[in-house]
Amino acid sequence: MKELRWGETPWDKMSRKELLREVEMMWSAIDSAGAVLVNLQLTDKDHPYWNTGPGGTALEKCNQVRDKIAAEYHKEDVYKAFFRYSDSLLFKASTSIGHWYNWLVCSDCDWMCTTDILKYATIGGSEAEGTCPACNGKFRAITWEDMSPVKKEKKDG
Ligand SMILES: [Zn+2]
Repeated sequence: MKELRWGETPWDKMSRKELLREVEMMWSAIDSAGAVLVNLQLTDKDHPYWNTGPGGTALEKCNQVRDKIAAEYHKEDVYKAFFRYSDSLLFKASTSIGHWYNWLVCSDCDWMCTTDILKYATIGGSEAEGTCPACNGKFRAITWEDMSPVKKEKKDG
């Protein structure tokens, strides 16, 4: 177990890349938690838990983080441009969660889909057997390289 002295945080010695991954994970978790808290608050909005209690405090913290981003970017754009797909890379699928998206990419044409789509669609019996409906290529798991705004040139076409 590492020790921290007064004024130190667990993130002080991270590289920029490591720090960005941490921020991305935390954003995704805070955004998810905030949305859940808003729904819970609606069930009993006047309860002290949601006003002066810890529920209200937690929701306010989530909102302050989310509002800062929402003031500059359209929330849906932030989600679609990165977080919809990167969640598969930022977090490990949990077996205790019944529904978890894992994104796959066609090796030939870069078409993306979730394992859910393959599971329920007629295009393939399983993730391994699934073939791309656009080109019949094989699917592979999404990688950080797929999330790059600039794609590397494919070798040998
Ligand atoms: Zn394809």
